[in-house]
Amino acid sequence: MNWMLENLNGIALALLPIQAMLVIFYFRRKYPPLRRRDTFGMVIGLGIVLTFLSLASGLTVLYAGSYLSLLFGIRSFFGAQNPERFLEHRTGLFNRRSFEGVMQENFGRRYWLVSFGIYNYADVRELYGAQQMDRCLSQIGSWLRKAFPGVNSYYLRNGIFILQSFQPLDQEAAAHRIQQRFGESWHVGESDRFLDVGCAFLDSSICVSSVHVLMNCISMAHRHLDEKVQKPTEAIQVDGKYVRGLHEERAVKRALERAVENDSVCVFLQPIVDASSQRVVGAEALARLFDDELGYISPGDFIPIAEKDGSISALGRQVFRKTCDFMSRPEIQQLGLDWVNVNLSPVQCMNPHLAEEFIGIQQAYGVPAEKIHLEITEESIINLTTLQEQIARMRAKGFRFVLDDYGSGYSNLMMVRKIPFINIKLDMSFVRAHFQEPNTLLPDTIRAFRELGFSITAEGVETSAMALALDQMDTTYLQGFHYAKPMPMEDFYAFMKSHEEAGEAAEEGADESRETAGKAAAAAEDEASEAEKADEASAEDIPLAASSVC
Ligand code: C2E
Ligand code: MG
Ligand code: MG
Repeated sequence: MNWMLENLNGIALALLPIQAMLVIFYFRRKYPPLRRRDTFGMVIGLGIVLTFLSLASGLTVLYAGSYLSLLFGIRSFFGAQNPERFLEHRTGLFNRRSFEGVMQENFGRRYWLVSFGIYNYADVRELYGAQQMDRCLSQIGSWLRKAFPGVNSYYLRNGIFILQSFQPLDQEAAAHRIQQRFGESWHVGESDRFLDVGCAFLDSSICVSSVHVLMNCISMAHRHLDEKVQKPTEAIQVDGKYVRGLHEERAVKRALERAVENDSVCVFLQPIVDASSQRVVGAEALARLFDDELGYISPGDFIPIAEKDGSISALGRQVFRKTCDFMSRPEIQQLGLDWVNVNLSPVQCMNPHLAEEFIGIQQAYGVPAEKIHLEITEESIINLTTLQEQIARMRAKGFRFVLDDYGSGYSNLMMVRKIPFINIKLDMSFVRAHFQEPNTLLPDTIRAFRELGFSITAEGVETSAMALALDQMDTTYLQGFHYAKPMPMEDFYAFMKSHEEAGEAAEEGADESRETAGKAAAAAEDEASEAEKADEASAEDIPLAASSVC
């Protein structure tokens, strides 16, 4: 101790080169830093200043300060070089922490990134087993290090890898090379494993405000890649448009939260017409959002977000409750509306308490369950057992089920066999395709379903010619802009009233013509054709009046 106190100057001078070496090593380190470089720089810088001050003044306290800062510097240097903190053990690549650290430290510098993710990683992992999958990841890691030697390779998690460089990188060529390699198998033990990947690339030109936003862009790109129905062979570019999309998605998400919380989700109704009598017999309830900041938001924008963040359950409950409230009003009961269809999303169909919740609401409003038809799509079959259980419980109370969007995407007949639907709704893309290029597919489908005892609703009926042709094909119900666009509940009441009056007027006209027909057969024929024209005209006039509402 005495020796140390006597040689404070000598020790301080000996420590100076160590401090200088630390600075050099730190900036040439092998692993990316965790702490900001300036923190380390400040500590070492302070140590050097304290060393000089202590040499000049000879104050013991300054010597102690310089030694302490050196100790702190050494600790953070070895922390920065600790592979456990920066490497992902299965792949041997840098981990997510390293990626965020490097991007944070070099924020503002130009960079080039290529990111790729294994499709349906969770499912594939379950299919191949965790052990086999980990061995695949390890092989991918080795291959990446060899294939892209001058580039930093990272494994984030959930099957997502990143190549990152501060030197210009031909991203499309790199993505192509990755796709090519994944076209071949990964040899694990005795078996060959095939993995599909989706690639995305971006560079510093997207000008994100933080590393957090950058990470969001990357995960959003991979979500989109995963959602694609068909495997894309080309890499997607994450550019300014993508970032705007991210901001918009967030804004819609906030609007959605507000609407769910404030009970302000609007329910619009679109009439469904009996094809032969042209009478409005039902309606479909469709959710609408009108936000103070964003204005009108279409279901095409908010439903997928609500499904992703889970708020679809609360939104769906709100739509259902408001529909029951509407149906329970005395004036609506007098209208003679047979039923209202309410959409159920696949997420709702996985809820084991769905039946309990819906039966509770329906009973609270005293609406006969037969008046509620629930529309579900083929995608809802994620968990068939839960779905069947919920449907059985609701059917026992009187609810009816309708298969929505038949003929869109990958329709198959599995749902029709597994779930007791009463009605099949033909998707408007399927209906339209027939009128653009007629063949026997649509009439044959309708005939087959009718023979099996289902009623059929055609969506997207936009002209009287379509309505007529679909009726001739034996379609039971028609829905579309030809009759009316979806409208607010209050307007729906007025619409029904005017439709009723128009129908009565047409019927009166028909009665009169029948009387005249008893007097003179030739004159009766003319009258009947006039009544038909009046009937047609009434059907065409209403949608114009109603569409102005929406
Ligand atoms: P969907 O259930 O198939 O509803 C029919 C969609 O077709 C509605 O779009 C309707 O406005 C539109 N449509 C009806 N007739 C015509 C026509 O003649 N021409 C054209 N061009 N379009 C027509 P909307 O309201 O935009 O809803 C889109 C989708 O959003 C719905 O498709 C449904 O899948 C979903 N959605 C809407 N509201 C809800 C809801 O409350 N819950 C759930 N889970 N999904 C909903
Ligand atoms: Mg629907
Ligand atoms: Mg539909």
